[in-house]
Amino acid sequence: MKGIIFDIDHFATHDGPGIRTVIFLKGCPLTCAWCHSPESQEFGPELLYMSSKCISCGICGQSRQHQTRSSSQHRTQVLERSRREQSDNLITACPQSAIKLSGELKEVDAVVAQAAAYRVFYEHSGGGVTISGGEPLAQPAFTLEIAKRLRLEGIHTILETSGMGKWTDLNSLIPYIDHFYYDLKLFDSSRHLKHTGVLPNVIQSNLENLSRQTRQIAIRLPLIPGYTDDEDNVSEIYHFIQRLGLKQIHLLPYNASSEAKYTWLGRDYSLGHLPKQTPEKLLSLASLAPEGLEVSIMTS
Ligand code: SF4
Repeated sequence: MKGIIFDIDHFATHDGPGIRTVIFLKGCPLTCAWCHSPESQEFGPELLYMSSKCISCGICGQSRQHQTRSSSQHRTQVLERSRREQSDNLITACPQSAIKLSGELKEVDAVVAQAAAYRVFYEHSGGGVTISGGEPLAQPAFTLEIAKRLRLEGIHTILETSGMGKWTDLNSLIPYIDHFYYDLKLFDSSRHLKHTGVLPNVIQSNLENLSRQTRQIAIRLPLIPGYTDDEDNVSEIYHFIQRLGLKQIHLLPYNASSEAKYTWLGRDYSLGHLPKQTPEKLLSLASLAPEGLEVSIMTS
């Protein structure tokens, strides 16, 4: 069985305990303006052009003209030409690896073998494999097969999910996932629709169902200045998960490090100017938590 992934990251330390391999599946039903992995959003392969690596050698074409053009003009030129022609040829020809295809169909066997090769690091650090995205529930059969195979290998598994998928798919994963990292971004329906492109009903009802089946759930709340980091939203999410009997929530402070990826895709990133939260603001948001909730402020 094959699925489309855009990256496999070894030695990751921010996506669960210990040293982990993170498998990033491509494609997401949400369209959050602040997405940290914009190359994950589309379901098909996409071309990236990294102008900082480009030395204007001209091997990809237009050699004389593009040296006088801006990098955005050159990006458009390279990407348009790549779409018209065999993009593989351009990618291989570029001596600087400035053109890259994001998104590759891979067999479950190959993905699991690549992850299992790092078993010794998981065993010594208490780590494992995190299945992330994009949205893993958007490729449910592929995700389930990977999770089953990792369980057979005895490797600790985390599923990072927005919760936007069918309950039957999420439910079928429960026996094979050790811990769920479940994103909640906005509690209010109209704000959720406005900023993520979907209503939160499915996400919230899936979490209600999941919390009846397992307590191995950590909620992840990305704090986006002016979008999700106001006291009303954070408090509503705290109280929602407390009603479900959940205990763990991770606050993810804002960082704009993904801006370059938007440039590589030829897209604008409208949130790059937003300031990071101050330590005082983060502590203030953490202090709103009702008793019994364990709030962790994560580093990035
Ligand atoms: S082949 Fe690569 S380095 Fe050379 S001009 Fe094209 S993108 Fe730039």
